[in-house]
Amino acid sequence: MQNFSYQYSHHSHPAWVEINMSQFKKNISLLKTYLQKSLICIPVKANAYGHGLIPMAKAAQETACDYLAVAHLQEGVLLRQSGISLPILVLGALHEEQILDLIQFDLEFTISSIYKAKLVAQKCQQYNLTCKIHIEVDTGMQRTGVRIESTLELFNYLTKRECFLIKGIYSHLATGYHFKDSLALEQIKNFSSLFNHTILKKVSLIRHLANSNGVLFFSSAQFDMVRPGLLAYGYKTDPCPLPLASISPCFSVKSKIAYFKVVEEGKGVSYGHSYFTSKQTRIVTIPLGYGDGYRSSLSNRAYVLIRGRRFPIVGKICMDQFMVDIGNSEAYVGDEVVIIGKQGQEEVTVQEIALFYNTHIYEVLTSFNERLPRRYI
Ligand SMILES: *Cc1c(COP(=O)(O)O)cnc(C)c1O
Repeated sequence: MQNFSYQYSHHSHPAWVEINMSQFKKNISLLKTYLQKSLICIPVKANAYGHGLIPMAKAAQETACDYLAVAHLQEGVLLRQSGISLPILVLGALHEEQILDLIQFDLEFTISSIYKAKLVAQKCQQYNLTCKIHIEVDTGMQRTGVRIESTLELFNYLTKRECFLIKGIYSHLATGYHFKDSLALEQIKNFSSLFNHTILKKVSLIRHLANSNGVLFFSSAQFDMVRPGLLAYGYKTDPCPLPLASISPCFSVKSKIAYFKVVEEGKGVSYGHSYFTSKQTRIVTIPLGYGDGYRSSLSNRAYVLIRGRRFPIVGKICMDQFMVDIGNSEAYVGDEVVIIGKQGQEEVTVQEIALFYNTHIYEVLTSFNERLPRRYI
């Protein structure tokens, strides 16, 4: 290395995920205004849906957010190590070898069986500890959670042991895609029915059920706290209650043109020559590929934005780059390319990419990996 004062900045990387922090904070404020009474818990699992765990958690903490939720211990530890002080709920099922860490890092965790409760109680007794927990009830998803009919028994077991501070009780909706979704309505009814039991009615537990769909479609699902992930990141479905109408995505994927060439008619482009030019044309190369999570199934299908216009990806997407046919339009090396997001009047939406992937928004957002630096604006 030559001896001059220099620090590498990943800002020189020619492809990145760009997060609009003021939009994210605005989304949370809109939710807060809309909900009025309920506490708001922002799920930041899976690297905050691909947005970046720590910066999003910090932004949520600076806004009116009351709780954070993660899937795993690992994510909770990272939050605590970065100085997040909000209550953090670990949603995923408990593993015995994680108990001490969960307590050590002041993470609230989920208990949904007497078996797991016993493991925790033993550890607490051994080390003279207490822990903060939420009971998860399965109201119809058949994933994790204690059965409705066994909830009271679990609750009684927990209340008899001093090591447990029971902070909340929750469940999760399996559907909830519209106002009349009968499974969601049944889950809400099942969850509400728990609080007919006098013991559960008397204690002050944070009751929480609604994810984003729950918030959008069922005011009866709000209870004491809600856990809207997708809505906080800016994705709403129509019809959307008016106060939430200006919720908007804060996630873009961008790059810069790395190379420009004029290609003659009848030439094959990229691996396997899956695209042939039909006339002389201009091909630009973008330095991002499936190695960043921009999957090769988008080859010859998706579009990107350059100078406010849509242009098609041509040929196979490679590991680190892909090609775009700009016809006889003008573009220069270094021009900004929008892979997801807005440019001028045009927009490539996450939903659009999700359709090509044959999946949903969640999977597209979490598919961009750590090779792409996150830039916060
Ligand atoms: C991920 C998750 C949420 C958030 O779901 P969205 O659909 O993004 O609102 C809420 N609750 C639980 C238990 C989850 O796992």
